[in-house]
Amino acid sequence: MASTPSSPASGYRGRLAPSPTGYLHVGHARTFWTAFQHAREAGGTLVMRMEDLDPDRSRSAYAEAAIEDLRWLGIRWQEGPDKGGPFAPYLQSKRRSLYLAAWRRLLRRGCLFACRCSRKDLETALSAPHERVQTGRGGGKFDTLDDEPIYPGTCRHLLGHAPQLPGPTVSDVESPGGSNWRFRVPDGQVIEFVDRNLGPQRLVAGVDFGDFLVWRRDGVASYQLACVVDDAAMRITEVVRGADLLKSTARQMLLNRALGFDNPAWYHCRLVVDHNGRRLAKRHDALSLRALRQRGLTPMNILSAELPIEE
Ligand SMILES: [Zn+2]
Repeated sequence: MASTPSSPASGYRGRLAPSPTGYLHVGHARTFWTAFQHAREAGGTLVMRMEDLDPDRSRSAYAEAAIEDLRWLGIRWQEGPDKGGPFAPYLQSKRRSLYLAAWRRLLRRGCLFACRCSRKDLETALSAPHERVQTGRGGGKFDTLDDEPIYPGTCRHLLGHAPQLPGPTVSDVESPGGSNWRFRVPDGQVIEFVDRNLGPQRLVAGVDFGDFLVWRRDGVASYQLACVVDDAAMRITEVVRGADLLKSTARQMLLNRALGFDNPAWYHCRLVVDHNGRRLAKRHDALSLRALRQRGLTPMNILSAELPIEE
């Protein structure tokens, strides 16, 4: 698709959504730069949203570092935690009431069930001899969002079943309590979309991804839920992010449909890999923007360097 011609009255709204769980690396720089360029070329608005939902892993020092590193790169945004704006707050940790309202709507619509499985239960189910074992790209660990293992369906029959008739059981529940809550994915349903960078995508529910977390037992909304609620509330028209989130896009399209939200356009950037072909992660401290800057590299060096890209 062609990019939107420049216009001062553009309705384009893009976003930068860093997670403050480590320092940004060159891969983030590429993706965020692309998001910045799209907003600028469209004459639109760029929103900075800090995805600091995870209380165990998020650090305010990383949030400050992300803002500083992006500014150093030359990226500018019009709304954000440092600037305010019409859709404040721009910190996900301050937006819990919105996520809770969406959780309630999903529950009323019969999309959710409470999941009592422990992490150990899931690992046992997934390592059973006849189950397909999902190996995370990082070498067998499910540490990235798209590598959430396919849920074996153990608790699907619990609260939230018979969704067409929201009976007293469901409407009595006002809060997620101390449970994990999952979105019931329609098995076999095909999710298709045309990515503005990678072209047509096709994902099959129950094969490429399973019943996914919407709310965590530690009282925090899942990444998937927070992301769709915020993209809708902040009127984001195009999501530019890394290709590691392609499966999350399928999940988020299901959430958008269930919540009555329009999908934004999707643009997934190919990922920068290291010399062994592995995706960059927080372990690649040497490729963090901080480290490169300390070694004397300029933003131009970083943005124009020829780097290996995942096919
Ligand atoms: Zn379960």
